[in-house]
Amino acid sequence: MRLLLIEDDPSLAAGLQAALAREGYVVNPVATGSQALAAVRAECPDMVVLDLGLPDMDGLQVLAGIRRQAAQLPVLILTARGRADDKVAGLDLGADDYLAKPFDMQELAARLRALGRRLSGAPSAQITVGPVQLDVASHQVTVDGAPLELPRREYMLLKALMESAGRVLTREALEGKLYSWGEEVSSNALEVHVHHLRRKLPENLIRTVRGIGYTLAAP
Ligand code: CA
Repeated sequence: MRLLLIEDDPSLAAGLQAALAREGYVVNPVATGSQALAAVRAECPDMVVLDLGLPDMDGLQVLAGIRRQAAQLPVLILTARGRADDKVAGLDLGADDYLAKPFDMQELAARLRALGRRLSGAPSAQITVGPVQLDVASHQVTVDGAPLELPRREYMLLKALMESAGRVLTREALEGKLYSWGEEVSSNALEVHVHHLRRKLPENLIRTVRGIGYTLAAP
């Protein structure tokens, strides 16, 4: 899940980036409204966390700009302004959720998971494909009920495949879910993760679609 983080306070942005990366998001941090609008255009994020108090533009203007480019993109507003009219204006402009500073990181994480579930159309925090079950909230994976420990990228890869089970995900789409913008990715990095993940899962669960990408199908 690629998350665009729009926050001009450097220490808060760094803290949020680290915490959201631990939650499994690929985070692109920007500090201004104009950078944010450029990033929405160029990078097609899956989700946005938007601080309303920005140096160059009002956050609500940024929100309106985001909505013109990406009507469905989930946006959570984060702001020190706790005033009711800001909240109403934000929600009226199409924000999907709202959290006032200071906020609890756990609450932000839970709200983003809820937005992510709405995005993927999965009604619950549990995704099941054949014998594999993945809990989006606790990051726990089980195979036939037995816990399976996965490194972060393998977990993100499995989650992406499970959320789109039965559909083919292209290499580019999968790399987009695993790596940050501008991150140096070796050409076979994805294959290596797939190789490791396959050895831990039931045979033939992850199928290669030659020349295109991968799909996950219940055996
Ligand atoms: Ca700010």
